[in-house]
Amino acid sequence: MAGAMTWKTLHASYASHCSICRKDVLQGAEAFWNTESRELQCVKCHTELAAFREAEGAGAGARYEYERRMLSEKAQRERKWGRALSFLALPWQSPSFNTRAWLQGSRGEVQLGALLDVWSKRHAGTVLHDCRASNRPGARTNIDHIAIAPSGVYVIDTKTLAGMVRVHRGGIPFFRESWKLMVRGVDRTKLVDAMGWQVETVRRAIGDTTVEIHPVLCIMPKYAATWKGTVKMRGVIVTDAHGLIRQLRRRGTLQGVAKDAIERRLHSAFPPANGSL
Ligand SMILES: [Zn+2]
Repeated sequence: MAGAMTWKTLHASYASHCSICRKDVLQGAEAFWNTESRELQCVKCHTELAAFREAEGAGAGARYEYERRMLSEKAQRERKWGRALSFLALPWQSPSFNTRAWLQGSRGEVQLGALLDVWSKRHAGTVLHDCRASNRPGARTNIDHIAIAPSGVYVIDTKTLAGMVRVHRGGIPFFRESWKLMVRGVDRTKLVDAMGWQVETVRRAIGDTTVEIHPVLCIMPKYAATWKGTVKMRGVIVTDAHGLIRQLRRRGTLQGVAKDAIERRLHSAFPPANGSL
């Protein structure tokens, strides 16, 4: 996972530094180079992350990013405090807020992934996890889950959120409505808008405009449930895990040969890099 296939071992042709620990990689020294993200890692960091890089299944991508950030922050502390002091400096040992968010994210993804697997086994549905969209340099490239259900194809983004989640509906009803997704009083409507490229990517992969594609923003609780229910805003279904499963169980006509064809196209567009089908 996390682009295990795109790493190459090389001897640095000029002096550089490791993207994680920031230590120098001297000219001619052995290092690892990611041909896709163009990232250089020293042998030590690359080896420490091996288990997470090759981990499989839903949430593996977020977990790798968490471990990567932990390692980077540890190196930063050591640089600042010296190795011995950094070990004693407990308050500084805890991961930063952003790094913790990656772990929370991976937990939510894993939980939802497991639920989707149960649904697909019981109801003969199909789920693809952690789909990597190529041709999106720089930006986020992973689609958390894609499910094929009788009522259409569901493009699912998981977000683990803390604090009260509310949907605010304003503007003029049926004419110029303005929906807002508020999390702890902060406007996070961008999360809904971020479904746009994911739907486009899946639509291109399917290549059939008659298939219904439903974008879903699935909110997973960080501590306690912060959101329950299902609402459709800006064409996106905002729901919780159980609401999503209810959507997937809706009746529909996407079955048999038509479903198989879509499944084949999605599998070839998003090859199982992490083997979790
Ligand atoms: Zn390093």
